[in-house]
Amino acid sequence: MPTDPAVSVEPTAPDADDPTRPLIGVLALQGDVREHRRALEKSGARTIPVRRPAELARVDGIVLPGGESTTISRLLDVFELRDLLSDRLAGGLPAYGSCAGMIMLATEILDARSGQVPLAALDITVRRNAFGRQVDSFEATIPVLGVPGEDMHAVFIRAPWVESVGDGVQVLAAVDGHPVAVRSERVLATSFHPEITGDTRIHRLFVEMVTDTRV
Ligand code: GLN
Repeated sequence: MPTDPAVSVEPTAPDADDPTRPLIGVLALQGDVREHRRALEKSGARTIPVRRPAELARVDGIVLPGGESTTISRLLDVFELRDLLSDRLAGGLPAYGSCAGMIMLATEILDARSGQVPLAALDITVRRNAFGRQVDSFEATIPVLGVPGEDMHAVFIRAPWVESVGDGVQVLAAVDGHPVAVRSERVLATSFHPEITGDTRIHRLFVEMVTDTRV
């Protein structure tokens, strides 16, 4: 039976299916999946949640949300996503990781739990829970290189910091001298959670990185 288009469907952005927009996957095993998708869509991308290899195979870029990096590491194996994700990252798939996502993208994790295996897509050493229990969670207003306009309001939740960066990795922001936002040509990572503040400038930067590698 035909449905009345005026009343039948949920509102979607008129160009939500526009194939000229990059398709960005959000790893949907744990964490702020909905918030990342919303921020990416506001920034001009199409998005899908990624739980299966077939979904991962289609995307132009991938976001690894925060959560708990030991759990995410284990779930990557349980959902049989690790091999394809490693292959796609090695092949240049653009990626953005926030907090636990940053930890997963690193080459080396300090204070890692046993069995926690990073994806080694970004030449950085990260320290888990680096800001310590006393300041478990905090907020700071910080300038971020490559993000135009005012300083960013950044929310840190049991956040890592970057202990050292390799060649080709640029530090975009720091707190007390510790890098908290870094990027290489195709991989971006923040210790903080821009998806929860409504400020889409980090997501816009990532959508630009994805768009640049697509053409
Ligand atoms: N401390 C967490 C970890 O080690 C990360 C916290 C977060 O993503 N908010 O995985």
